[in-house]
Amino acid sequence: MSTAYLRCMGEDCRQEYPLDHREHLCERCGNLLDVRYEFAWGLPGAPLDPCALRDTWERRKSSSAVIDQSGVWRFRELLPFVSAGAQIVSLSEGRTPLVDVARTGDWAGGVRLAIKHQGNNPTGSFKDLGMTACITQAAAVGSRVTACASTGNTSASMAAYAARAGMRAVVFVPFGKISAAKMAQSLEFGAVVIEIGDNFDQAFQMLRALAEEMGLYLVNSLNPFRLEGQKTIVLEILEQRDWRVPDYIVVPGGNLGNVSAIGKGLAELREAGLIDKLPRLVVVQAQGANPFYQMLANGASAVVPISEPRTEASAIRIGHPVNWRKALRALRLTQGLCESVTDDQIFAAKAALAQDGVGCEPASAASIAGIRKLVQAHTIEPGADVVAILTGHQLKDPEIFLRHRTAEDMSRQRIHVDADVEKLRAALEGVLLQSA
Ligand SMILES: *Cc1c(COP(=O)(O)O)cnc(C)c1O
Repeated sequence: MSTAYLRCMGEDCRQEYPLDHREHLCERCGNLLDVRYEFAWGLPGAPLDPCALRDTWERRKSSSAVIDQSGVWRFRELLPFVSAGAQIVSLSEGRTPLVDVARTGDWAGGVRLAIKHQGNNPTGSFKDLGMTACITQAAAVGSRVTACASTGNTSASMAAYAARAGMRAVVFVPFGKISAAKMAQSLEFGAVVIEIGDNFDQAFQMLRALAEEMGLYLVNSLNPFRLEGQKTIVLEILEQRDWRVPDYIVVPGGNLGNVSAIGKGLAELREAGLIDKLPRLVVVQAQGANPFYQMLANGASAVVPISEPRTEASAIRIGHPVNWRKALRALRLTQGLCESVTDDQIFAAKAALAQDGVGCEPASAASIAGIRKLVQAHTIEPGADVVAILTGHQLKDPEIFLRHRTAEDMSRQRIHVDADVEKLRAALEGVLLQSA
């Protein structure tokens, strides 16, 4: 039905490699690799006919087979790198909700806004979509030990999927820089956690220095199989919208794997005839960790790494994003945009979402903060149809949220009362007066 292989993304290289090639960068030019397929698109009666595909995907929703339950493998016609009968390592990832958030849309400047909540994944972030694909591939090539550098979510996800596959997991995280919740997840799933360096980029550099020599299977997002899983985010979004393409899809950017994956998904969907136009992709970085934004704003031809990235949105505290070339390709494809927001703007966006009853981890709220800024700049038009991807779960980083509460918020919302009915009555009277 289709042939799958790896190919260098460099336009003047295009070196090809077999799927089981262990290196994640091109040996000839050092550029990133893509998983490529020779699809039999559009042939009459072929299994890749757009209508037939939609029906097949729809039908699988009511199946109880593991690969039909998964929001990644349900779309397996578009990620045909797994040979028939191979073990699929899945935790029923994906299938996340698309929720209208009218108040937040007003707050952002009057856009029609829905959020695609990737926090509703088995380990609480979109990383699970990439991990099911990547660990499935690791199993196919017989890997025993997986490794990643992480700001916390990749490690939690890898630890879970490695456990499921019966592999060992070694995670590299910056010392003292990941949230307690993310650390606890990795430990609970049995990973060995190596705390090294001050930031993600340093931890990643250390891992890369020894990964090959030590025979570790690297699952960071320079591994192209990660992106294959993550591209299904856009399939779910479109399916949930009856294949109506939004004006914008907005995503926070750290290592820039997700925006790259979504761009690849969109390109393939258009090639397959499932959509006939593309949304504009918007990637939003935190101001202290925005090398991609700066590159575009300065019209530079390459990313200049930031050696000490700073932001409280720890999931996007990355100074040297490995996927910037793929992200650039995705923005070019979709006439996309890049924005940069401060931590204050991120926390204000998080508070706006909370009024719609939606929680997320701080990095996720960067999407919303970016939309507001782009509407204010008249780049996104009021009334635009916008989908923001919330990348991680509210409970991933409660410490940061609590630290951001003002004393005033706290005295209004968190009240200690002696176990005495009269004192309780007085306290409740105060509460009711407040909300009147
Ligand atoms: C990993 C992550 C990001 C950044 O995604 P990239 O693909 O690295 O750009 C954003 N938010 C959360 C919650 C994440 O876990």
